Amino acid sequence: MIAKRRPTRKIFVGKVAVGGDAPIRVQSMCDTDTRDVDATVAQIHRLEEAGCELIRVAVPDRKAASVLHKIKSRIAIPLIADIHFDYQLALEAIEQGVDKVRINPGNIFVKAGQKGIEAVVLAAKQAGIPLRIGVNCGSIEPRLLDKYGYPTPEAAVESALDHIRFCEELGFHDIIVSVKFSEVPNMIRAYELLSEQTDYPLHLGVTEAGTPWSGAIKSAIGIGALLAKGIGDTLRVSLTTPDKTDEVKVAYEILKALEIRAHGPMLTACPGCGRTEVDLLRLTAEVEAALKTVKTPLRVAVMGCVVNGPGEAAGADLAVVGGRGRGAIYRRGKLVRTASEDQLIPALLAEIENWKPDPEPTPEPGREVIPLRVRR
Ligand code: SF4
Repeated sequence: MIAKRRPTRKIFVGKVAVGGDAPIRVQSMCDTDTRDVDATVAQIHRLEEAGCELIRVAVPDRKAASVLHKIKSRIAIPLIADIHFDYQLALEAIEQGVDKVRINPGNIFVKAGQKGIEAVVLAAKQAGIPLRIGVNCGSIEPRLLDKYGYPTPEAAVESALDHIRFCEELGFHDIIVSVKFSEVPNMIRAYELLSEQTDYPLHLGVTEAGTPWSGAIKSAIGIGALLAKGIGDTLRVSLTTPDKTDEVKVAYEILKALEIRAHGPMLTACPGCGRTEVDLLRLTAEVEAALKTVKTPLRVAVMGCVVNGPGEAAGADLAVVGGRGRGAIYRRGKLVRTASEDQLIPALLAEIENWKPDPEPTPEPGREVIPLRVRR
């Protein structure tokens, strides 16, 4: 059972709402050299096409800060500047017109003290843009490390709450918060603690999650566990990958698996067994490739035999069931057509094209229409 989403304030990043009754937002971060405007814009366009709704870029120096307005002028999604240590770069990014700034207060504090953080908060307030208070396990203030002896979830949450209070004392409430850990149990604990003590929107993520394989699993467990408890308003899956769109794809797979947000079809496939009557790996790969351009939110199943396949796939909107040389397409458990093996994919795509969804119930706030629920 997925818990009701925890109520939070709604914060706008450019035109994109985060928190409140807004859908849980998917974001990513470029790995290009921000100073290379063409490469950064090209990557953002690819991420946007994959469904990324907010994009963050690193701002390591003045040159990177100075090109932010150029990047922003060429993209359609809100631009977030990621700042570490040097608060002057945050001020420059705000001048450049970014839609949000992520600061890591711990390391800004180390370099410039509270004055640096204050300058950024006041500049964001004047510009009318939000800040993300992004606490990471690796950069908790020395005072809290002394108190807790280790970067614990409690230390991270205390750091985040201290910074929130500091912002509020300056009359600033346009805040999104994160408390990321690379260890999943710590990450879950930190967000649970934080969600009990603040109603600002939460940005979920497992920091330094790893490769597309292990990082996706860690993120699915950490982010998924929190979303299942109704915690979280935006997420970034951090992956060490040559293709940053992997981050967006994994994020949507997490949201789809929990039936929180639909984004194109959700593919399921049987694992295959001694009854498999078709080249299941090839068929599944072909269906997956064919679905890449499909935007309709459907549950599609690929099954390896006619013995169990139709019954097992009865919860799918459409199922491709492989047989010897011939296969069949089922719509919610009912046979709609058979086709030779080489015509199965075109037959599936034709069914998708003609798909007329049943009327769906009105979703609760923060959840989109959920057409993926199993209908048995
Ligand atoms: S659907 Fe058929 S092939 Fe696939 S796992 Fe079940 S019994 Fe085996």
